[in-house]
Amino acid sequence: MDSSGQSDVSQCLARAVGRLPAEDGRHVAEHLLSHVLGRDRAWLFAHARDPLAADEIARFEALLERRIAGEPVAYLTGRRGFWTLDLAVGPDTLIPRPETELLVELALARLPAGQALDVADLGTGSGAIALALASERPQARVMATDASAGALAMAERNAREHGIGNVRFLRGDWWQPLAGQCFDLVASNPPYIADADPHLGQGDLRHEPMSALASGADGLDAIRVIVGDAPRHLRAGGWLLLEHGWDQGAGIRELLLRSGFDEVATERDLEARDRVTSGRWPG
Ligand code: GLN
Repeated sequence: MDSSGQSDVSQCLARAVGRLPAEDGRHVAEHLLSHVLGRDRAWLFAHARDPLAADEIARFEALLERRIAGEPVAYLTGRRGFWTLDLAVGPDTLIPRPETELLVELALARLPAGQALDVADLGTGSGAIALALASERPQARVMATDASAGALAMAERNAREHGIGNVRFLRGDWWQPLAGQCFDLVASNPPYIADADPHLGQGDLRHEPMSALASGADGLDAIRVIVGDAPRHLRAGGWLLLEHGWDQGAGIRELLLRSGFDEVATERDLEARDRVTSGRWPG
């Protein structure tokens, strides 16, 4: 507080850092204050001595309380960056993770630019994968499915906000809304955590939709459905790419090989953990 009883930007941040969980630190305090003020972080540094208005302090305080109670930062701001896109996210959608950008990279490597290829994203959530691929391949025709009406509404909003017109959003489980349709590439970040995994009761996962996280006793229920029906939806030479947990690569390669896929391989994320397995449908 200064002599007038008000707080400036740097005092407010310093007090917040002291209250936030240690692993959040300064970065989260700055992120939340930037959000409240509608300014970027560089502005906070340049205006460290600017006094904050009472309502700004109150709104910052409310977000801090929710963060201290464990809510994910992305749900507090309603935004999360993914690939080149700033996406709207909310409790109906999984929060896009940086490791999922590996799935986007691997998909783009299999999608030559300038061709009218058919692409699908199963369980699109906020639309992260579908919109990243559609923005990089404007000539592709992308289908994005999700069982959750709330998630699809968020994904459609994200498409509108970014002016991305080459994605269609369809409601339903996995392949169900895509009967009779064939694709050159299908990508999915399905739920893959085992139902009994204690991580589901920790951190951000507590607040995210369970249907986007957990999938049966070994976490592979959704992936079995996706792999099982993939041959009916892939053109000859078409690719299936799946994100999964660090210990599921061998099991998913086995599923793909038994279904008749070739060129089956698992790629590691930036933390050197198995993260995405792909296979080619020979036709
Ligand atoms: N990658 C997420 C996590 O482990 C899980 C996402 C998912 O199940 N698709 O935190």
